[in-house]
Amino acid sequence: MNILIVDDSATMRVGLARMIERMGHDARVAIGGSDALRIYQNERPDMILLDVLMDEMDGYHVAREIRSLAGETWVPIIFLSSREEDQDLERGIEAGGDDYLVKPVSFVVLHSKIRAMQRIDEMRRKLVRVTDELEAANRELARLSHHDGLTGIPNRRFLDERLAAEIDSAQRNQKPLSLLLIDVDHFKAFNDQYGHPMGDACLIDVAHALRRACRRATDMAARYGGEEFVVLLPNCTAVGAQRAAVTILEAIRTLSIPHAKSEHARVTVSIGVYTVIPARNAQAAALLASADLALYSAKQSGRDRVAVHQELEQSNAHSPS
Ligand code: GH3
Ligand code: MG
Ligand code: MG
Repeated sequence: MNILIVDDSATMRVGLARMIERMGHDARVAIGGSDALRIYQNERPDMILLDVLMDEMDGYHVAREIRSLAGETWVPIIFLSSREEDQDLERGIEAGGDDYLVKPVSFVVLHSKIRAMQRIDEMRRKLVRVTDELEAANRELARLSHHDGLTGIPNRRFLDERLAAEIDSAQRNQKPLSLLLIDVDHFKAFNDQYGHPMGDACLIDVAHALRRACRRATDMAARYGGEEFVVLLPNCTAVGAQRAAVTILEAIRTLSIPHAKSEHARVTVSIGVYTVIPARNAQAAALLASADLALYSAKQSGRDRVAVHQELEQSNAHSPS
């Protein structure tokens, strides 16, 4: 350990430093309070032996300053004093000291006290390390719980959270929110033809293509389930969403993943688009259902295409002419 000895008596400094070195530690000496604070800040010793009665700044003051400099970290402070009243000890502990020894102090007592303090310090360091590891593990767990294990993009849970928040925000700001529901065409036949591992690889490629298609920081591509994906486009008009969908369609074609059982001989997707300025209490499920209706229509009309859910068109279709 690196032990800082703070004492305004040169004799004491020399005596203590000798003892510390005989114990196998490195000794560093400070001749007074401000010297001690400067050394503490630059060298962060592992322990401090602090004299109480010093001319320039007393030990209590030095201890308080060190405690405030140390912030969250802890350095053991042992007071050494010639005053042996109970109140002196009490003051030392109150000022932030961890122990209080009466001078002159024997080698054996000082050695034992330093050993005990070292043990506490090691336990504390271990606790800090374990806490850091635990925090890192929790962050990783949170990341895993929000991402799809196969493709690495956000999963359904993450999408649900973001979608609810975006609906809220779009409603408050009266901005359009667009949803693309994307389904791989003839994917069951792809699995049957090439096997499940190739199917998995195909889903990964599709997911990454969708992620690349997300241009704005607030756009999000998520795996909705199976071979279905959602791209969430906040503050994006119907025209913009349709354009994004066409770009995605083209991006998937460009992947050129062979698919013998598809009319295009390569993997394609169908996309349902829905854009809305959400009403009060609009539900995520209703938005997804609207995008799903459009997707159904894209599938029905031949796949490898984009279909847009048009609320106005629908209500017109049902109204008498
Ligand atoms: P359509 O063109 O109408 O969408 O037909 P489809 O065959 O794509 O649709 P269907 O819903 O019949 O089949 C989806 C297939 O996706 C069935 C399922 O085994 C496969 N699938 C779902 N999740 C995974 C996965 O994680 N990996 C693989 N390899 N296949 C998956
Ligand atoms: Mg499907
Ligand atoms: Mg499909």
